[in-house]
Formats: sequence, C-alpha cells, structure tokens
Amino acid sequence: MVRKVLFAALALLIAGGSLAWFNRDRLVDRAIQARLQQEPDTSFLDDKDRIRVLVCGTGSPEVSSARAQACTLVAAGGKMFLFDVGDGSVHSLAQSRIPVNRLERVFITHFHSDHFGDLAPLINAGWIWGRTTPLEVQGPIGMKQVLDGIAQAYALDEQYRSANMPHLARNRAVAFGVPLEVEFAEGQRAVRVYDKDGVTIDATLVAHDPVKPALGYVLRYKGRKVFVSGDTEVSPVNFEAMRDADLAIHESYAAHMVRRAIPQMKTLGMDFEAEVAERTIPYHADNIALAKQAEEAGVKHLLLTHLIPYPDSFVVRRMYTEGMGEHFKGKLTVAEDGMVLVVGE
Ligand SMILES: [Zn+2]
Ligand SMILES: [Zn+2]
Repeated sequence: MVRKVLFAALALLIAGGSLAWFNRDRLVDRAIQARLQQEPDTSFLDDKDRIRVLVCGTGSPEVSSARAQACTLVAAGGKMFLFDVGDGSVHSLAQSRIPVNRLERVFITHFHSDHFGDLAPLINAGWIWGRTTPLEVQGPIGMKQVLDGIAQAYALDEQYRSANMPHLARNRAVAFGVPLEVEFAEGQRAVRVYDKDGVTIDATLVAHDPVKPALGYVLRYKGRKVFVSGDTEVSPVNFEAMRDADLAIHESYAAHMVRRAIPQMKTLGMDFEAEVAERTIPYHADNIALAKQAEEAGVKHLLLTHLIPYPDSFVVRRMYTEGMGEHFKGKLTVAEDGMVLVVGE
C-alpha cells in the first residue's frame, strides 16, 4: 500500500515537472511582462486636492540598514517636492515606487551630509530615466558649491552615457542640477522661494549652530500649512513657521534617553561615543521642549523624524515620546520610513 502511494506521488511529480518544463517559456515570459508592467505610483501627482506626505527617510547621521537618512516628500497641486535627500533616500523612494524623474524641485535644509548624501544619485537617476528639464535644487548659500562638486564627480559618467544613448545626449544639461540659493536681507527670517498654481513655499531660518544658515521650509496649499523643520534646536525663532501648522514634520531628539545613556557609555569605556552624544544635545530638538512649543504654536499634528536615538527596540519605542503627552494635546506620530500621510486627515 505504502509503495503504491509513493509510486503515485512520484508519477505525479514527474508529470507536473514535465508540464512546467514544457511551459517554461510561457512562465518566463509572464514573469518578464509582470516586471515590465510594474507601474510607478502616481497617486502623489494625481491628487490635486490635498497635501500628501511620504516619509522617505527618518534617519540621522547614525548609519542604519533599516532607515534612510533625512528625506520627506510633500505633494501638493499635482507636484512633488522633496525636502532633503540623505543617504538611502533614492532607494527608499524606489521602494515606494515614486517616479523620481518627475520631481518639481528639491529643497535642501542644510549641508550636513545626512541631508544631501543622495543628491548626486537622485539627479543622475532622474536624467537616466527620462527627465527632460534640469532639476532645480534649492538650498542655503553653498548650494552652488555642492552642485558644482557633484557635476565634477559625475562628468565622466555623463560623457559615457551620452556617447551610448541618443536620448541622453539630447538632454546633457539634465545630468546636472540647477542651484537656487536662498538669500536673506538683513534682519529677514523668511523668504518666499516658490509660488505657482496655488502652492507657496517659504524658506525660514532655523537654529542649528554652528551650521549657518540652516533652513526649514513652510509649504501652503488650499488653506493647509506644513512645516518641515530640517535640523534645529527648539527655539523661539521657529515659532512663526510652526504657528497653526496642520502638520509639523520636526526633527526629534529624546534627550532624556541620551542623558541616561551617557554615564553608561563612560562605565563601558565608550568615551568617544559619550563625547559625541554630549556634543549633539545642544543643537537638536529636545522632545519635551518641542512638545511645549508645538502646543503653544497651535500645531495640529506633530510628526517626529530625524530620530535620535532610533526607536528600534521595544524599550526605546516605549520611552521615546515619554512625557510629551503632558505638554502637547494635538496628534503625535513617530515617523517610520515609507509612512504616507494626508494632511488634515
Ligand atoms: Zn541631520
Ligand atoms: Zn544637521
């Protein structure tokens, strides 16, 4: 009996195997077609009524396989605006199937590497994959220097690809970004840098000494307001930018946890790490002070990003926002890579 069953199973296996073998071309073709028909996600371009946000990176300079560094996509009026593009951002945007060749403009908050490390591959990918106009990259004074450096580093790549592909040779300028530097008049703290089809974007000076200037950005569309803080300590200079924001996408620093970790680092002989931790405390946004300011400014939804330390373990997740709820009564979210939000919902 057992032998009969085994024999029947073997016969079935052989029959199934040979069927798959003879159909293999069709299976392979179907897999190829499925891959080719994988569409980019255009929902951020299609939705012209609401502001949509994709958190494409929640990281900081601490390298992590689980997080891209600073990266926030905000879509409004059928256009996609990218705020910062730290290391891992291009991969993260690809994971969310964002058509990177259709970005309206990139905005860099400041020139710490975790905020622009992926700018070069972003410009390059847009050019290779069908962009027809050079990408505008807005940032503080220094933007031109950064883009000139990228252009120099990518000059050979541009030559090789243009020699090989007629469509790239026709658009050689697209291989390089166009720098737009934000300049402030004496005493001025905010400058309108974009105003088109009902979308306005203001650059605003934030407090991230010794990085000067460091910028945040305020986007407005259809009566809604979004503040992207970049890196900043909690400071009265940010109050106007935060005032009545429907969404404040703010850098976040769980200082109570870092302070608690420093003596332990020293006990473990990690003096270098302890010193780095101590030096980062003054120029980032302490969560408790941030909660107080967000409440005072009437922020409706506070989204924490640029997370320090990374809330990757159960304990850190539990403790990360500890005490914030006592001060901030609005909606509070700890961002995750790949998170999508609709402003006002
Ligand atoms: Zn940073
Ligand atoms: Zn920074």
